[in-house]
Formats: sequence, C-alpha cells, structure tokens
Amino acid sequence: MPQSLVTTAYIAAGVLFILSLGGLSKQETARRGNTLGIVGMLIALVATAAGGQVSGDGYAILAAAIGLGAIIGAVLAARVGMTSMPELVAILHSFVGAAAVLVGFASYLDPNSQLSGVDALIHDVEVYLGVFIGAITFTGSIIAFGKLRGMIGSKPLMIPGRHFINLGMLVGCVGLGVPFLTASHQGGVMPLLIMAAIACVLGIHLVMAIGGADMPVVVSMLNSYSGWAASAAGFMLSNDLLIITGALVGSSGAILSYIMCRAMNRSFISVILGGFGADEGVAPAKRSDEPQGEVVSVTAQETAALLADAKSVVVVPGYGMAVAHAQYPLWEVAMLLRERGTTVRFAIHPVAGRLPGHMNVLLAEAKVPYDIVLEMDDINEDFPHTDCVLVIGANDIVNPSALDDPSSPIYGMPVLEVWKAKTTVVMKRGMASGYAGIENPLFFHENTKMLFGDAKKMVDAILTELRGGGGKAEAA
Ligand code: NDP
Repeated sequence: MPQSLVTTAYIAAGVLFILSLGGLSKQETARRGNTLGIVGMLIALVATAAGGQVSGDGYAILAAAIGLGAIIGAVLAARVGMTSMPELVAILHSFVGAAAVLVGFASYLDPNSQLSGVDALIHDVEVYLGVFIGAITFTGSIIAFGKLRGMIGSKPLMIPGRHFINLGMLVGCVGLGVPFLTASHQGGVMPLLIMAAIACVLGIHLVMAIGGADMPVVVSMLNSYSGWAASAAGFMLSNDLLIITGALVGSSGAILSYIMCRAMNRSFISVILGGFGADEGVAPAKRSDEPQGEVVSVTAQETAALLADAKSVVVVPGYGMAVAHAQYPLWEVAMLLRERGTTVRFAIHPVAGRLPGHMNVLLAEAKVPYDIVLEMDDINEDFPHTDCVLVIGANDIVNPSALDDPSSPIYGMPVLEVWKAKTTVVMKRGMASGYAGIENPLFFHENTKMLFGDAKKMVDAILTELRGGGGKAEAA
C-alpha cells in the first residue's frame, strides 16, 4: 500500500476514534460510538499491516497473533459480568504497559536503525519515557487487578516514609537517564533495564498504597497512563496514528478519573500520587453498634400500594439492583405505573454501582427509555415534589451524612436527596453498609420505610401485587 494511502487511512481512523469518543459520551449515541471505534481500529490494523513494514513470514506471525488475541479477548469479554468489568479493564491496561516496554527495548536494539545525532537522542528519550511509563502501568495494573479480584487485600499498604521511597525511585529513574542517553550506540541497555525494574517496583508501590475504595479511580488513571505509554510507543515507531490514539486514551482517562474523584469526593492528586496525604486526611469510617433510631419496615404489598397511590415516583437504582438483576421486572413495574398515569423517572448518581455508567447500561438493557433516566443534577430539585421514591439496592449515593456530617468519610460528596420526598422506600436485604462502609441515617428518617429482601424477589412481588392484586393496591 503506498504511503499516501496509509496516511489517509490513519487520518480516517483518527477521525473515527474522535467521533467514537464523542458518541460514547451519551447513552443515545454510545452504540454508534462503539461501532465507529471498531471500524476505526479495523482500518488502522489493515493500514498498518499493509504499510510495508510487514513482509513475507511476518504476515503469518501477525495473523496468528491477531487471531489468537481476538479469540481470547472475545471469549473473556463475553464471559465477564458487568460488576467484574473494572478487573478486565485493569488487566488489559497491563498488556498495554507491557507492550510499551517491549516496543521500547525492541526499538532501542533495532539492528536496522539508521538514526544518528539529534535524531538518535530524541529517539532514545522517547524509548526511555515509553519504557518508564509502560513499566509503571504494567505492574500497577496487575496490582489493581489483584485488589479488585480480592487476590490482594484492599487495605492500603502504608510503609513509613513511603513518599520518600517513591521520590527516591523517581530520582533514581531520572538519574539513570544520564548513562543511558550518553552511552554509545545501543550501549545503554543496562541502565534501561535497571530503570525498568525500578519503575516496575514504583508501579507496585504506588498502587499498593491505595485503598480499595479508590481502586476504580486508579484503574481509570492507569487507563490514562496506558494511553501515554501507547503514545510514547507511537513516537518510537514513528506511527502518527498510535500517537493520536494514545493521546486520546491518555487525556480521556485523565478526565474520567477527575470526574470520578469529584463525584466520590476524593482528592485527584492524592490518588495519582499513590494515596499522598490519605493517611492524614481520611477519617476512619464511623461505626456504631447503637441503633440510630427506629426503622419502619414495609412489605412488598404495602410498597405496591404506596406506588399505586403516588402521582409521581422516582426510582433510584444502586449496586444491589445490579447484583440482583432486578432491572427487568423493575421496568415492568414502571410501565404498569405509567399506564395508570403515574409519572415515573429514574435518578442516576454518577458513581452508582461499581463503574461509571453502570446503572445507565443496565437500564438500557431492560429497555428503559432514555428520556426518563435523569442525572443527579437534573432531578435533585424535584425530590420535594415527589410522592414516592423507590431506592433499590443503593446506599452511599443516598446517604444524607454526605451533606450534613463533617466527620463522615463521604462528607462533601454530592448525593441524591431522596429524604426530601413524601415517602422513601429503601429496598435492601438488611442493614448492611454499602461500599464506603458507613452507616446511613436515611434508614431511620421519619419518611423512610425499609423493604427488606433481595431486590429481584421484592420487585417481582411488587409486580405481582400491582398486576394480580392490583385491585387491592388501588383500593389501599
Ligand atoms: P452501595 O455499595 O453503597 O450499596 C449497595 C447496597 O446494595 C448495599 O448496602 C447492600 O445492602 C445492597 N444490596 C446488595 N445486594 C443486594 C441485593 N441482592 N438485593 C438488594 N439489595 C442488595 O452502592 P451504591 O450504588 O449506593 O453506591 C456506589 C458506591 O460504590 C459508592 O460508595 C461509590 O463511591 C462506590 N464506587 C462507585 C464506582 C463507580 O464508578 N460507579 C467506582 C468505585 C466505587 P444489603 O447487603 O443490606 O442488601
């Protein structure tokens, strides 16, 4: 394929990647965004393979590697549950990191390299940076995977003087750059190897120091690092598309991490610097064995009656809905209520569930129309005018102490103000805390009623009541 065609294909793929990211930012266009990304990647693969750098036996090796990778990837992606998605993403980032390290070494040791003078120096800096970022991403992502999987304890590893250790490692890596860059032709392998080993330890140490609660932000941060590592690999290989794609991944990952940090009230800087300041700043979760007040429990039948009486209903889904797969009967309940003239809407907190957009995906799966699924900022003001709020398997995202208890670890995190509604029914199995491990005063609020049980079973029971026992519910 002539170089001009390869360049044109790369530009087309780059544009498709940008359009893909744009599409992914909205639920309505996410599917199209995905398709555009797939087409862009196919164009990129074909153009790279046909670009003249591969020849003869190279094609057989390339086809075998891509075929095997595609099969393993497809099987794993098809099997993985929604709640395990962050683990899968974490391990995939480790591959990108490893690839950047390998490309760095291969590019440095390339026997056909013709570079000399300033060009060679620039290339060596690219190699050094690529290997550094790649090594941190590689080991950091493996630790993140282990923590998310529960193979490694989620407690942060707080070695005394750990920030100085990190600083020492960073200085060591920078220092090793001198013998590497001043070494004669390909003679800097040893400093490069030592730096890669130190960067691997740094990656482990940075992520080990971060607690389980911050892991998803770390995964998103590693996503960003993997993008920069890919970009560095693009510079080494003089591949414009890889540079563009890496920069897109790097910057979008950083923006996503920032958004998640804001929504979870975590310090962005603390998370990227391996929990810097976390030991001083995070208050221990408040736990008390004393009951905070009285809990009023209701049955599924009573909940059905409350819903049937309400003119406006807001449903707040959380992690428990995802675990129980309650979204399908839930939408049937909502449809029944809508047929009776009730206004039913869904309220989505930005960090509901265990990954960004978790609830949107599940509701879309159950065919809930997008126009009744509202973001937190768009619905929070409506709670005082809502007759009944149904909280399904959500906890932290509806915790009032985030707004009124400065000693709470989640103080400052914006939450869905469901307690302002006329009645709030909270559906969960017991009084257990959520992800943040803290108590929730909402359960003892005067307007709150607790519906104890598995979300799916309870929603099924409400549905049965509204369908068959509808008369009873309407009469109530
Ligand atoms: P929470 O983890 O706060 O609460 C979920 C609740 O669901 C639990 O209290 C549990 O109570 C209940 N539950 C579990 N299984 C079931 C079931 N089968 N049926 C009914 N209820 C069930 O979830 P939220 O969605 O409210 O909040 C998300 C949390 O996750 C936040 O703290 C957020 O910061 C964090 N997070 C979110 C990320 C994201 O990107 N979305 C990323 C990382 C963390 P019980 O056991 O009593 O039933």
